Amino acid sequence: MTGTFDAVVVGSGINSLACAALLARGGWGVCVLEREDELGGAIKTAEITEPGYLHDVFSAWHPLWVGGAAHAELGDELAARGLEYLNTDLPTGTLFPDGESAFLLRSGDANAAELDRHAAGDGEAWGRMLESFLPNADLAFGVLGTELWSRAGAGLGMKAYRRLGRRGFAEFVGELTISSRDWLTTTFESERAHGLLAPWVLHTGLGPDAAASGYMTQVIAVAVQEGGMPIPRGGGAKLVEALVRLIVDNGGICRSGSDVERVVVEAGKATGVRLADGETVEAGRAVVANVTPTQLYERLLGDGDVPADVAGKARRYRYGRGEMQIHLALSERPRWQGDERLGQTAVVHVTAGLDGVSRAVNEADRGLLPAEATIVVGQPLTMDPSRAPEGAGLLWIQLQELPSQARGDAAGELDTGDGTWSEELRERYADRIVARLARQIPNLESTIKARTVLSPADLERANVNLLHGDPYGGSLALDQNFLWRPFPASPGHATPVERLWHIGASTHPGPGLGAGSGTLVAHQLLRPALPRRAGNRLRGLVSR
Ligand SMILES: Cc1cc2nc3c(=O)[nH]c(=O)nc-3n(C[C@H](O)[C@H](O)[C@H](O)COP(=O)(O)OP(=O)(O)OC[C@H]3O[C@@H](n4cnc5c(N)ncnc54)[C@H](O)[C@@H]3O)c2cc1C
Repeated sequence: MTGTFDAVVVGSGINSLACAALLARGGWGVCVLEREDELGGAIKTAEITEPGYLHDVFSAWHPLWVGGAAHAELGDELAARGLEYLNTDLPTGTLFPDGESAFLLRSGDANAAELDRHAAGDGEAWGRMLESFLPNADLAFGVLGTELWSRAGAGLGMKAYRRLGRRGFAEFVGELTISSRDWLTTTFESERAHGLLAPWVLHTGLGPDAAASGYMTQVIAVAVQEGGMPIPRGGGAKLVEALVRLIVDNGGICRSGSDVERVVVEAGKATGVRLADGETVEAGRAVVANVTPTQLYERLLGDGDVPADVAGKARRYRYGRGEMQIHLALSERPRWQGDERLGQTAVVHVTAGLDGVSRAVNEADRGLLPAEATIVVGQPLTMDPSRAPEGAGLLWIQLQELPSQARGDAAGELDTGDGTWSEELRERYADRIVARLARQIPNLESTIKARTVLSPADLERANVNLLHGDPYGGSLALDQNFLWRPFPASPGHATPVERLWHIGASTHPGPGLGAGSGTLVAHQLLRPALPRRAGNRLRGLVSR
């Protein structure tokens, strides 16, 4: 069957849903098409271990969403559709091998006191960081919330230039490229402070020695202090449900089980999409594709739809490290050794510190299973006890330093065979992580009721956008980041095909639940004062 809409959105990740919701509220007829049986992409909540244990299977932490532009615009309407956010005063901490820990808290004074506990003077350094960062926070966050190759992007540059002057502007831009290691070691005395913040660069797809990771460290440090670690009551799926309801309430349609195999291009313009079963869905004003460049240029577009050099460069788009998720259902709450705050902290990093993260990243980049991975231990029950039976425990564990194909084991323990993430390799690697964690949580192993592990290969099977098990939709090395994302030959969101827009984690401002790319494209599409075409909304027939 054929339908006609103003916009067809390919994929139902957070960027798609935010984009569709904004367009639908703006009077556009929208249709979201998702190939999997469930909507939401990397947001999914399910009882994947034991009944009564509600796990966020992929993403779990929503500070980027709650701090983002889409939430600012849609938050009230989503709340009216049942979405409720919970938050904490203990967003994150790091536990070191000697049992000492450090915490990032919710106010400048609290963080200064915490850092001074580890090295006198680091509290003052934190204060100085805030003093220099906060007055220009609009510029720093603006880089992530602006279409950089546009008049708005030029406007942001001019604003910075006017405010900071020539020298200040040069300094500001130069400082954006500093590595996390260089920023941390020149700012704080204590290795505890370095180890507290360095693991957070993993959540931006970088490592602590990468260009621009120092800027991302500061952005995250300030964002966590100011915004905490919000999660939806009942799991991330509640955000998806509320967005879908908002789209439908505004006349839009969201369909699962609909694999788009082609963008239909006529005379250089995208006019709709064709599904794998042959159905076509027409788009009168825009096709918005939330896919990787690999899929966009190698599957959805044909030879001749785009200049050959752009297609060739898209083929060289690089993916980042692979990732593993370990989900544990426990019969009781984990009892951490050491600081009692560990049991109440939303996200605990278990690592030897800055050099520990750096070493594990380097090993993974060289194709090895790291000898001592940075273990990200998420504890959603600290905010939302409704996700497990009374008194029970539930852990969301993330390992972001993995090769997508293992060439060996830096610890010399595991046989990686031909490098494929077999069930055997996945489970043995997870055993190693759980055993290490058990040294810090003595009741861990004896209270595990069930465990579900997802390897990089499982992630790719679950969501085609997580190619090679890269959770972030492509390497965020500087040449594929910011001004140059997804890749320098086709940066931003407009594509060489008129009316075809590219969104999702592979595009600026990259991965995360902020919905930045979907929001930027929706705003661009809504900007021209076109007459509302409500009549277009449901002109077509749809099958489900
Ligand atoms: C394991 C994991 C943990 C994470 N944790 C966090 C976290 O805690 N906080 C955070 O902010 N970020 C986190 N992230 C990152 C964040 O979840 C993602 O960057 C973000 O959700 C990606 O959203 P997206 O809009 O790019 O699309 P995705 O969520 O990747 O969704 C894309 C959708 O498009 C569909 N699709 C693709 N091609 C087609 C096609 N041809 N036809 C139809 N449908 C198609 C796919 O099936 C998929 O459902 C995590 C990511 C992963 C993988």
